[in-house]
Amino acid sequence: MFVSLASPDEAPRVRDWLVRRGIAARPVGRGAALVITDPWVPSAVRLDLAADPAVLSIEDTTELPHRVIAPEGPVEPLDVGPVPIVAGPCAVESRDLAFETAALLRELGIRWIRGGTEKTRTSPHAFQGHGRRAAEWLKEAAEAHGLLCVSEVTEGPEAEAIAELLDVIQVGARHMHSPRHLQRLGRLGKPVVLKRGLSASPEEWLFAAEYLLQAGAPTVVFCERGIRTAHPLKRFTLDLGAVPFIQSMTPYAIWVDPSHAAGSSPYVAPLARAALAAGAEAVMVECHPDPARACSDALQALDFAALAALVADARRLVAPEFHANPTKAGAK
Ligand code: PEP
Ligand code: MN
Repeated sequence: MFVSLASPDEAPRVRDWLVRRGIAARPVGRGAALVITDPWVPSAVRLDLAADPAVLSIEDTTELPHRVIAPEGPVEPLDVGPVPIVAGPCAVESRDLAFETAALLRELGIRWIRGGTEKTRTSPHAFQGHGRRAAEWLKEAAEAHGLLCVSEVTEGPEAEAIAELLDVIQVGARHMHSPRHLQRLGRLGKPVVLKRGLSASPEEWLFAAEYLLQAGAPTVVFCERGIRTAHPLKRFTLDLGAVPFIQSMTPYAIWVDPSHAAGSSPYVAPLARAALAAGAEAVMVECHPDPARACSDALQALDFAALAALVADARRLVAPEFHANPTKAGAK
């Protein structure tokens, strides 16, 4: 049973009220709802609960993603570091590219490098990535510059070997709907960044995370990367409503990938700033020292100067004085 509340402040009182009647309830997300896992709630209790002015709605469902919305233990956050940006090339095209990018990220204060190894492209004719070799280059470059690395792990035969090299594994948007793949990755016991499917509903996204946690992933990070809408000119539509949604429904982090939504480099920084202003824990962006020569997603890659400018914006957006007075701090 899922009980929505008018405010997280009401949760302790309503929870105590239920506990006194022998019914266990756990808070959901950041606390504005409770989930009751007891299969049977006496109808008198239910009626009294519904009459409580703080109770907005009560939904009966036996299929809630419990591990995601109301985990039993504490949730360990991933530390993104001083700059809430995860950056790197769409694909790790060469060892040199990995090292050149890692050196820049280090200089900019970014702690996490990204980069595709086995690329899951929409077209089978597009560049498919260098696979395990690319994961080795990514790890080597990350270690050499004191960074942590994240990359998509696909359904290929080398999935386990590639995952072994990564600090965090990523589920690509095209794989979010594959329960067996999610279970396979969850069993690896590493934190997982879960991209939202190309047109996944919020509920499908939560259930995908449930598969990962049920299989053994120690934590998940949701990553909004744009969904399909009717807009004819943009690649995808970035759903920033996903940020407060995930934060109110789950205690897990949400990152936003503006690059794959934008499809075009001038759109990336404005969307990234909007995502951080909306409260995303980090943004994941694609960059390349020479975007025009990138083997994949060239149009949306930021060059290094544009990435440095975004880092400056991000530092301002997360600075305490910005939150105290956004208008003034933003104008600096
Ligand atoms: C990626 O981040 O490398 C990627 C392919 O993104 P998505 O799965 O969101 O399309
Ligand atoms: Mn890409």
